[in-house]
Amino acid sequence: MGENVLEATPNPASPWVFGVQELARAAGTMREESGVFRAPADLSLALIGVEEGSDVETDLRLEAVHEGVLATGTATVHVTGECGRCLDPIVYDLDVDLQELFFSKDRIVQGEDDEEQFLIENDYIDLEPVLRDAVVTNLPFQPVCREDCQGLCAQCGVRLDENPGHHHDVVDPRWAALQGLTNDTE
Ligand SMILES: [Zn+2]
Ligand SMILES: [Zn+2]
Repeated sequence: MGENVLEATPNPASPWVFGVQELARAAGTMREESGVFRAPADLSLALIGVEEGSDVETDLRLEAVHEGVLATGTATVHVTGECGRCLDPIVYDLDVDLQELFFSKDRIVQGEDDEEQFLIENDYIDLEPVLRDAVVTNLPFQPVCREDCQGLCAQCGVRLDENPGHHHDVVDPRWAALQGLTNDTE
Protein backbone atom coordinates (compact mmCIF):
# COMPACT_ATOMS: atom_id res chain seq x y z
CA MET A 1 0.00 0.00 0.00
CA GLY A 2 1.48 3.37 -1.01
CA GLU A 3 2.33 6.00 1.58
CA ASN A 4 2.14 8.99 -0.75
CA VAL A 5 -1.42 8.52 -1.87
CA LEU A 6 -4.43 10.45 -0.75
CA GLU A 7 -5.75 8.53 2.24
CA ALA A 8 -9.11 9.81 3.38
CA THR A 9 -12.17 7.79 4.14
CA PRO A 10 -14.99 9.01 1.94
CA ASN A 11 -18.14 9.98 3.76
CA PRO A 12 -21.05 8.23 2.00
CA ALA A 13 -23.37 11.02 3.16
CA SER A 14 -21.56 13.51 0.88
CA PRO A 15 -23.28 14.08 -2.48
CA TRP A 16 -19.80 13.89 -4.04
CA VAL A 17 -19.11 10.37 -2.82
CA PHE A 18 -20.19 7.52 -5.08
CA GLY A 19 -20.26 3.82 -4.44
CA VAL A 20 -18.41 1.93 -7.17
CA GLN A 21 -18.51 -1.61 -5.82
CA GLU A 22 -20.35 -3.11 -8.77
CA LEU A 23 -18.30 -1.05 -11.28
CA ALA A 24 -15.00 -2.18 -9.84
CA ARG A 25 -16.04 -5.78 -10.42
CA ALA A 26 -17.13 -5.43 -14.02
CA ALA A 27 -14.44 -3.87 -16.21
CA GLY A 28 -15.82 -2.06 -19.22
CA THR A 29 -19.09 -1.05 -17.64
CA MET A 30 -20.09 2.49 -16.91
CA ARG A 31 -22.68 4.43 -14.97
CA GLU A 32 -23.98 7.97 -15.25
CA GLU A 33 -24.58 10.18 -12.26
CA SER A 34 -26.35 13.40 -13.05
CA GLY A 35 -28.18 15.81 -10.85
CA VAL A 36 -28.08 18.97 -8.82
CA PHE A 37 -25.74 18.44 -5.89
CA ARG A 38 -24.93 20.73 -2.96
CA ALA A 39 -21.66 22.66 -3.17
CA PRO A 40 -19.14 21.67 -0.50
CA ALA A 41 -17.33 24.23 1.68
CA ASP A 42 -14.13 26.00 0.62
CA LEU A 43 -14.73 26.48 -3.09
CA SER A 44 -13.46 30.05 -2.72
CA LEU A 45 -10.68 32.57 -2.93
CA ALA A 46 -10.56 35.81 -0.92
CA LEU A 47 -13.02 37.91 -2.94
CA ILE A 48 -14.95 35.34 -4.91
CA GLY A 49 -16.24 31.80 -4.70
CA VAL A 50 -19.10 29.34 -4.55
CA GLU A 51 -21.41 29.50 -1.57
CA GLU A 52 -21.52 26.30 0.46
CA GLY A 53 -24.79 24.46 -0.13
CA SER A 54 -25.58 26.22 -3.41
CA ASP A 55 -26.67 24.17 -6.40
CA VAL A 56 -24.12 22.48 -8.63
CA GLU A 57 -25.52 21.05 -11.86
CA THR A 58 -23.48 17.94 -12.43
CA ASP A 59 -23.07 15.39 -15.21
CA LEU A 60 -20.76 12.53 -14.37
CA ARG A 61 -19.76 9.34 -16.04
CA LEU A 62 -18.09 6.63 -13.97
CA GLU A 63 -16.29 4.01 -16.04
CA ALA A 64 -14.66 0.80 -14.92
CA VAL A 65 -11.14 0.73 -16.36
CA HIS A 66 -8.14 -1.49 -15.84
CA GLU A 67 -6.66 0.70 -13.08
CA GLY A 68 -9.90 1.31 -11.23
CA VAL A 69 -12.65 3.83 -11.96
CA LEU A 70 -12.37 6.78 -14.32
CA ALA A 71 -14.65 9.69 -13.46
CA THR A 72 -15.29 12.31 -16.14
CA GLY A 73 -17.90 14.99 -16.49
CA THR A 74 -18.87 18.59 -16.08
CA ALA A 75 -20.18 20.74 -13.27
CA THR A 76 -21.76 24.20 -13.33
CA VAL A 77 -21.32 26.27 -10.19
CA HIS A 78 -22.80 29.66 -9.29
CA VAL A 79 -19.98 32.06 -8.49
CA THR A 80 -20.55 35.16 -6.35
CA GLY A 81 -18.10 37.77 -5.19
CA GLU A 82 -17.20 41.40 -5.51
CA CYS A 83 -15.17 43.54 -7.85
CA GLY A 84 -11.72 44.15 -6.40
CA ARG A 85 -11.79 47.75 -7.69
CA CYS A 86 -15.32 49.08 -7.11
CA LEU A 87 -16.77 46.45 -4.75
CA ASP A 88 -19.80 45.89 -6.98
CA PRO A 89 -21.26 42.40 -6.72
CA ILE A 90 -20.15 39.85 -9.30
CA VAL A 91 -22.38 36.90 -10.19
CA TYR A 92 -21.81 34.36 -12.92
CA ASP A 93 -22.00 30.66 -13.70
CA LEU A 94 -18.78 28.71 -14.18
CA ASP A 95 -18.58 25.43 -16.10
CA VAL A 96 -15.71 23.15 -15.16
CA ASP A 97 -14.55 19.82 -16.52
CA LEU A 98 -13.96 17.01 -14.08
CA GLN A 99 -11.63 14.14 -14.81
CA GLU A 100 -9.90 11.85 -12.37
CA LEU A 101 -8.73 8.27 -12.28
CA PHE A 102 -9.40 6.50 -8.99
CA PHE A 103 -7.07 3.57 -8.51
CA SER A 104 -7.99 0.24 -7.05
CA LYS A 105 -5.61 -0.39 -4.18
CA ASP A 106 -4.07 -3.34 -5.99
CA ARG A 107 -3.44 -1.26 -9.13
CA ILE A 108 -1.50 1.66 -7.67
CA VAL A 109 1.46 2.64 -9.78
CA GLN A 110 4.46 2.87 -7.48
CA GLY A 111 7.30 5.30 -8.00
CA GLU A 112 5.37 8.28 -9.34
CA ASP A 113 5.86 10.30 -6.18
CA ASP A 114 4.95 13.69 -7.61
CA GLU A 115 1.55 12.68 -8.84
CA GLU A 116 -1.31 12.83 -6.40
CA GLN A 117 -3.16 9.57 -6.76
CA PHE A 118 -6.76 9.11 -5.86
CA LEU A 119 -7.91 5.81 -4.48
CA ILE A 120 -11.07 3.79 -4.34
CA GLU A 121 -11.63 3.59 -0.57
CA ASN A 122 -14.00 0.98 0.79
CA ASP A 123 -15.67 0.79 -2.63
CA TYR A 124 -16.27 4.56 -2.68
CA ILE A 125 -14.76 7.41 -4.67
CA ASP A 126 -14.85 11.04 -3.49
CA LEU A 127 -15.20 13.70 -6.20
CA GLU A 128 -15.18 16.62 -3.77
CA PRO A 129 -11.41 17.34 -4.00
CA VAL A 130 -11.65 16.95 -7.78
CA LEU A 131 -14.45 19.51 -7.93
CA ARG A 132 -12.58 21.86 -5.55
CA ASP A 133 -9.45 21.75 -7.66
CA ALA A 134 -11.37 22.36 -10.89
CA VAL A 135 -13.33 25.31 -9.46
CA VAL A 136 -10.66 27.09 -7.43
CA THR A 137 -8.11 27.02 -10.27
CA ASN A 138 -10.72 28.71 -12.48
CA LEU A 139 -11.55 31.57 -10.11
CA PRO A 140 -9.90 34.95 -10.73
CA PHE A 141 -7.40 36.14 -8.10
CA GLN A 142 -8.32 39.76 -8.95
CA PRO A 143 -12.01 39.66 -9.81
CA VAL A 144 -13.34 42.72 -11.66
CA CYS A 145 -16.88 43.61 -12.72
CA ARG A 146 -15.48 44.71 -16.11
CA GLU A 147 -11.96 44.67 -17.46
CA ASP A 148 -11.98 48.46 -17.73
CA CYS A 149 -13.61 49.14 -14.35
CA GLN A 150 -12.04 52.37 -13.06
CA GLY A 151 -12.82 51.59 -9.45
CA LEU A 152 -13.37 54.16 -6.74
CA CYS A 153 -11.63 57.42 -5.94
CA ALA A 154 -9.07 56.63 -3.28
CA GLN A 155 -9.83 59.92 -1.50
CA CYS A 156 -13.62 60.21 -1.43
CA GLY A 157 -14.86 56.85 -2.74
CA VAL A 158 -16.98 58.10 -5.66
CA ARG A 159 -17.32 55.77 -8.61
CA LEU A 160 -14.84 56.98 -11.22
CA ASP A 161 -16.78 55.42 -14.13
CA GLU A 162 -19.68 57.74 -13.35
CA ASN A 163 -17.50 60.78 -12.71
CA PRO A 164 -15.12 61.18 -15.63
CA GLY A 165 -12.30 63.60 -14.92
CA HIS A 166 -12.95 63.46 -11.19
CA HIS A 167 -9.95 64.55 -9.16
CA HIS A 168 -9.10 66.49 -6.05
CA ASP A 169 -6.93 69.56 -5.92
CA VAL A 170 -4.92 68.43 -3.00
CA VAL A 171 -2.45 70.91 -1.65
CA ASP A 172 0.09 69.70 0.81
CA PRO A 173 -0.32 71.87 3.94
CA ARG A 174 3.44 72.48 4.06
CA TRP A 175 3.36 73.67 0.46
CA ALA A 176 0.42 75.93 1.27
CA ALA A 177 2.41 77.48 4.08
CA LEU A 178 5.31 78.06 1.72
CA GLN A 179 3.00 79.66 -0.82
CA GLY A 180 1.79 81.98 1.93
CA LEU A 181 5.37 83.03 2.63
CA THR A 182 6.04 83.68 -1.02
CA ASN A 183 2.97 85.86 -1.28
CA ASP A 184 4.10 87.88 1.71
CA THR A 185 7.42 88.70 0.18
CA GLU A 186 5.91 89.92 -3.02
ZN1 LIG B 1 -15.81 47.20 -10.70
ZN1 LIG C 1 -12.69 61.81 -5.03
